[in-house]
Amino acid sequence: MVLRLVEFSETSFVVTLLTRDLGRISALAKGARRLKSPFEGSLDLLSVCRIVLISKPGDSLDLLTESKLRRRFRGAERSLDRTYAGYYVAEMLRLLIDDDDPHEQLFELTLATLGQIDGHGPVAATLLAFDCQSLRILGHGPSLAACTHCGVAVTRSRGRTPFSLEGGGVVCRDCRPRQASLLMVSAEALGALDVLLKSPPARPSEAAPPGLQQSVSSAPQGPPSQPLEHAVGAVAELQTRPSGPTPAPDETLFPIQHLLLDLRPAIATELRSLINRYFQCLLGRAPRMQNHLSHVT
Ligand SMILES: [Zn+2]
Repeated sequence: MVLRLVEFSETSFVVTLLTRDLGRISALAKGARRLKSPFEGSLDLLSVCRIVLISKPGDSLDLLTESKLRRRFRGAERSLDRTYAGYYVAEMLRLLIDDDDPHEQLFELTLATLGQIDGHGPVAATLLAFDCQSLRILGHGPSLAACTHCGVAVTRSRGRTPFSLEGGGVVCRDCRPRQASLLMVSAEALGALDVLLKSPPARPSEAAPPGLQQSVSSAPQGPPSQPLEHAVGAVAELQTRPSGPTPAPDETLFPIQHLLLDLRPAIATELRSLINRYFQCLLGRAPRMQNHLSHVT
């Protein structure tokens, strides 16, 4: 999947790609800017391609020798919001992961996310699911069960729970006075966040290729979560959206539909703001595309 294209010479691009097997890589696509190129116009932002790569030793850029288009990103034909949402996903993948650090689940999540954005999926709910699941897969998810300062279990009240952006999660009553700049997060938003940070249910075994079930179920679970009865309560309160049109085969590998929560607007806004600020703290700056999506809820 193409995450970025940078002009390298009159005829070539340096391409940043997210690949299933190698993670994020950069490669030189010689001649890609020519009208008649071996890449047949497949190298567009967010295009999904099958590629042939020649690995170069040391610091030299790998060489992309062939690329066949499998799916083009069509968000731009639908709406500006869907276009920006696609750009946001590409930006986050550039910011969140390092080169040569493969995460197959993240690749599948990205395909499923673009399938929703590109089609008729709910943009804001899809981006929330993408953000939370990429945090989970990369092990950066916030702690919602234990105090990020002292580690004791935090019992949530019906009211608001203090959340430390710098600490990366909730804060207990005792530690609260010693923490600066806390956000107060509603119980409903925390409940939704809990659902969004969980591994989605595995696909039915008959639909899964051998090995996938295992890789899904053995994936890191992220930080410990709130006690089970609370979590079940939160799940029961939230309605997932009815599944949309049947997704293409590429998209079924990550069951993102289970995570497209139909939240009340106030809660969706609260959660979006919390996640935005969480990313700003994690990355040390705001992703550029965050601003362009501020009205999408
Ligand atoms: Zn504490």
